[in-house]
Amino acid sequence: MEMNITLIIPVLLGWVSGLFVNYASDVLPQTRRFSQPACPDCQTPYSWADYLTLRACRNCGRIRSLRMWLVQIMAVASFVYFWLFPSKALGIPLGMLVLIYFGIITVIDLEHRLILHPTSLVGAVLGLIVGTYIHSRIDQNGLLIGMSKSLLGGLFGFAVMFLLYQFGALVARYRARRMQAAGQAADEEEALGGGDVYLAGVLGLMLGWPFIWDALVLGVLLGGLISVLLIFVLLVRRRYSSEALMTFIPYGPYFIASAFFLLFGP
Ligand SMILES: [Zn+2]
Repeated sequence: MEMNITLIIPVLLGWVSGLFVNYASDVLPQTRRFSQPACPDCQTPYSWADYLTLRACRNCGRIRSLRMWLVQIMAVASFVYFWLFPSKALGIPLGMLVLIYFGIITVIDLEHRLILHPTSLVGAVLGLIVGTYIHSRIDQNGLLIGMSKSLLGGLFGFAVMFLLYQFGALVARYRARRMQAAGQAADEEEALGGGDVYLAGVLGLMLGWPFIWDALVLGVLLGGLISVLLIFVLLVRRRYSSEALMTFIPYGPYFIASAFFLLFGP
């Protein structure tokens, strides 16, 4: 019984964190700062009381998004779960901060295919703290070695994705030239978004060396596997085209999922 009562703490913390993830995901892609939230349909600003109690818009009656409710439920569920079974690498408080951060960047990436520079900057600070914490405890390395491993991981993640990004840009330019030669309008397709480079740097700081290597391999495998499944489904439904093959693979969510698995997994 006693355990059931203390579970009120992660339920409340999870609910409040969910509200913060929703709020950041609503305003940051629009205004790049913590502004007054507004109805996505009629742009009427919500009162804070209405916004935080998930009320419908008073002007046009638009109810709040399904995402808002999903995030609230997932935040409470994950906080309760990691309260009972904390990440061995992070412990409870740092684990909760990382959950909130992953929540914000995942929602924004899925909804806008965007990794924002301000969130990457905040992530870099959080990543350095997390990475230093993890690596200074491994073999009781101490703070200095812990911080070096975090920085090395960040540098490696950034450098690898930067090179892949340059390669992707080269392929995209070649493809645009061929499409123009064939009389088609060139599109702006990019195999790898520039934000993914910064994301890999942030995750590298967080996981440190050598764990960032595992996260990148896992992320690329996961992204590739899901793309193959997608192409298979399109083939089966006879809606496959060469366009579908070239569809942009958003690696961001796969890298986040891999880092999540490494930090919170068994
Ligand atoms: Zn409205």
